Amino acid sequence: PPPTLLHPEKWCRGFNHFISQCLIKDFEKRPSVTHLLEHPFIRQARGKDMSLQKQLADLIQAQEQLGFVAKIRYERIHTRRPYRVDAADKYSLDDDLVNLEVLDEDTIIHQLQKRYVDLQIYTYVGDILIALNPFQNLSIYSPQFSKLYHGVKRSSNPPHIFASADAAYQGMVTFSKDQCIIISGESGAGKTESAHLIVQHLTFLGKANNRALREKILQVNPLVEAFGNACTAINDNSSRFGKYLEMMFTPTGAVMGAKISEYLLEKSRVIKQAVGEKNFHIFYYIYAGLFHQKKLSEYRLPEEKPPRYIDNETGRVMQDIITKDSYGRQFEAIKHCFRIIGFTDEEVHSVYKILAGILNTGNIEFAAISSQHQTDKSEVPNAEALDNAAVLLSIGSEELQEALTSHCVVTRGETIIRTNTVDKAADVRDAMSKALYGRLFSWIVNRINTLLHNAESRMNVGILDIFGFENFTRNSFEQLCINIANEQIQFYFNQHIFALEQMEYQNEGIDATTVEYEDNRPLLDMFLQKPMGVLSLLDEESRFPQATDLTLVDKFEDNLRCKYFWRPKRVELCFGIQHYAGKVLYDAYGFLEKNRDTLPADIVVVLRTSENKLLQQLFSSPLTKTGISLHSFIDTMEMMRHPEETTNMKRQTVASYFRYSLMDLLSKMVVGQPHFVRCIKPNDHREALKFSQERVLVQLRYTGILETVKIRQQGYSHRILFEEFVKRYYYLAFKAHQTPLGSRESCIAILEKSKLDNWVLGKTKVFLKYYHIEQLNLFLREV
Ligand code: ATP
Ligand code: MG
Repeated sequence: PPPTLLHPEKWCRGFNHFISQCLIKDFEKRPSVTHLLEHPFIRQARGKDMSLQKQLADLIQAQEQLGFVAKIRYERIHTRRPYRVDAADKYSLDDDLVNLEVLDEDTIIHQLQKRYVDLQIYTYVGDILIALNPFQNLSIYSPQFSKLYHGVKRSSNPPHIFASADAAYQGMVTFSKDQCIIISGESGAGKTESAHLIVQHLTFLGKANNRALREKILQVNPLVEAFGNACTAINDNSSRFGKYLEMMFTPTGAVMGAKISEYLLEKSRVIKQAVGEKNFHIFYYIYAGLFHQKKLSEYRLPEEKPPRYIDNETGRVMQDIITKDSYGRQFEAIKHCFRIIGFTDEEVHSVYKILAGILNTGNIEFAAISSQHQTDKSEVPNAEALDNAAVLLSIGSEELQEALTSHCVVTRGETIIRTNTVDKAADVRDAMSKALYGRLFSWIVNRINTLLHNAESRMNVGILDIFGFENFTRNSFEQLCINIANEQIQFYFNQHIFALEQMEYQNEGIDATTVEYEDNRPLLDMFLQKPMGVLSLLDEESRFPQATDLTLVDKFEDNLRCKYFWRPKRVELCFGIQHYAGKVLYDAYGFLEKNRDTLPADIVVVLRTSENKLLQQLFSSPLTKTGISLHSFIDTMEMMRHPEETTNMKRQTVASYFRYSLMDLLSKMVVGQPHFVRCIKPNDHREALKFSQERVLVQLRYTGILETVKIRQQGYSHRILFEEFVKRYYYLAFKAHQTPLGSRESCIAILEKSKLDNWVLGKTKVFLKYYHIEQLNLFLREV
């Protein structure tokens, strides 16, 4: 069918009125883009220049799919004059909330709603991008769109996630400075999708001529997410780990490789999932894949009833596995990812074996043996599951049974063997499964890093996509960690947008209105402070063998005397926290155990005897990372992550490792120039075009969007030292051979020559509005 233009009167707005009327009439008579391109006005516009013809066609096609207001400037295409920055050239006022004259919640909500129902899911707040989840596939991410958002002034096109990627990329290339894009929002708001789109656009911008490399980089996210994402009550593809993906570039901006850092995988999901939730995707993918390939028996997986770890309640899983061809397709996709990235067949086979080994381990049961003397001994009644697990993990089944049902204790130099009760044995079994999966995941990430590492790369754009804020009916230790991480990201955002900015105005003697904002610093202190913060108290309690989850909550109550913490009367094990994003009630059941995350040495010893090379590697110390020289802190992290291997180090808990990871993440982020993407979930039913004012308002409030709009409208988001400013932009006012001083006067000369308005000079710095930088950079490119 002939392509149709969704809003001809809109896209023609960029042409002068007379011409657009002619074009619309013509188009109404014959709705064909090809025909329209032959219109005399358009022919005249593009002249004889074939590249212009192509450009125009691409633009029109792109606009057509988008259905957005077109910003093709007749004059620009026709005359090819440099793009002038003047008042008339300001982009569509609707695109940026900063342009609103009335700044209140109502106006902002209406503005966003109006745009959302018009499928304009992206909106700027100055240099920050708001992304509303469309809950439907939009055709605005094709290569035509990539071309549109390539090194142009941001206002040339409607707001788009590609524009944020382009801004980061241009920032990196122009100033040789690392960049980071911080994507935040609650679970299901669209962070992971946004991260994918950014990677897609960066690979385009980074001219990955090397197709193989581009393919590799694009496979990283799907592979890691198959292992780290799962279906939750809120999101079918929820990230159960935090991910910081750095795309590496050469000084000229060619993409060279990538590196991932993963944070805090929710390992407990391997052994148990809440009602209505599922295990990590990969288990279902391989089950379906092996089923269709008739290889289930080779991996000792039953066809009738899938293992307990993946079929905990409904018993419908096998039916899904057989009937849902998406699982099977995903299995093929993952195989493809492994191959493209460069994993060997042997490695992939080992990965499958370990996964099947974990599933069989979960089926091992324990029964009590009561004899006269011993009442706490357990044995495995279902030898088949034990044998299956042992065979898949290439270890002896007797040794495995031994390690599960007993443990060694060293007292006064003597080693004594003690038996495990049924419950204890089951805990050891589950701890082993979690450790296997956690280490397998880390190994996959490390292996990807080795395969995609490139020594020549000099700069990077990091993309942060962590698990979003969570508030379920029952919230456990995992939710606490996830929410603390979000608290930290919000703090980082506040620092950048408000605190640092206002401090700087004062220091530089600039008169700018202060904007009040909700500072979550006291809350963050309550979590991270030593020795009286939540994490420290948790660690302290975890060290006492007699402590229980109840004594932990008592300890919290005694020590956390602040308005953000409360303890409900009737529910003993519960405590509540007033997070920046809302009140959350936590159930402390299992907190201590989860924090200790102990894996008995007996299990480590048995797993190290495995004949499976990969498995040996997972439990050898430290995890070997061939081929790359790593920063020493990564090794330290490994040691912290696998504490039982470090004899001389104090035992590390999940909380202390978590605190360390947060610091590590921040240290990576602070070196780069940040770009923020705020994802917003328009409704809780995953429905397209449905905009719940209430839900959006809550998110706007806690993310401080209203305040952000104000500060972006009134403030100066860029502050550059005089010397640095002159170094960057002296071409704009001076000749190449001149060497102007890095002084106030030189800055004025440059600013006046550029005809910018609204800038201010402080004592040592030039203060610019968010849109000035883009204008200056464009001038620079034109010079
Ligand atoms: P979590 O914190 O649970 O990981 P998230 O913020 O990463 O959540 P996503 O997984 O990115 O959320 O998005 C949830 C779902 O919303 C996606 O699976 C997809 O169906 C839909 N979605 C999000 N963004 C887009 C988009 N730009 N276009 C189409 N669909 C989208
Ligand atoms: Mg996600």
